[in-house]
Amino acid sequence: MIKALIFDLDDTLYYELEYVKSGFRAVSNYISARYDLSAKDFYNKLLTVLDEEGRGKTFDLTLAHFGLPGAEVERMVNIYRKHKPDNLRLYPDVERVFAGLKGNYKLGLITDGNFTVQWNKIKELGLNKLIEEIIVTDDYGVDRRKPSSFAYLKLLERFNVNPEEAVYIGDNPEKDFITARRLGMKTIRIIREKGMYIDKRLSPEYEADYEINFFSELEKALKSF
Ligand SMILES: [Mg+2]
Repeated sequence: MIKALIFDLDDTLYYELEYVKSGFRAVSNYISARYDLSAKDFYNKLLTVLDEEGRGKTFDLTLAHFGLPGAEVERMVNIYRKHKPDNLRLYPDVERVFAGLKGNYKLGLITDGNFTVQWNKIKELGLNKLIEEIIVTDDYGVDRRKPSSFAYLKLLERFNVNPEEAVYIGDNPEKDFITARRLGMKTIRIIREKGMYIDKRLSPEYEADYEINFFSELEKALKSF
């Protein structure tokens, strides 16, 4: 019998690109106030670079494009991480389904990434009020990021459930399911219309037991276990 549901955050409960855009707006306002450049032009270029080059060098490449000093990157990263996202919403299907889950299951969350960023997202989305046990792995060190077993084991212990009584629900086959499966937990992959990993396919041990496209299918998935 399933007693605990443990969720991933980014691109599982909300659309991560919305957070990225909000951060880009904050960074673009800073640049526009400092240099003779419109925030809109800088913002649009950030989005183009992200789209064409992927993550990692977005700020560097955009600064270089406008001939601005590369030394601004550090400040930009700082602004990005500390900005308060103003536009974040849970996916509507998440909001609908969560109300019914509370009380019937123990609810947990495991998320990787800079801890200031992840906690800002969690608070902006109101997840700290919906989910009883939340682990931002970076609070314990970057080596505790998924697929480390650290957070999975910690939540199983806090919930006092066996692995087979718990389900991990996430979107990224590179790191969300492999350890959960190895520990004996059930796994569900959500493949939404948009998201960074929707097209990623890996070998079976990295994939989930069950796949859904919306949280409305969660109950059916849980019954299959
Ligand atoms: Mg994710």
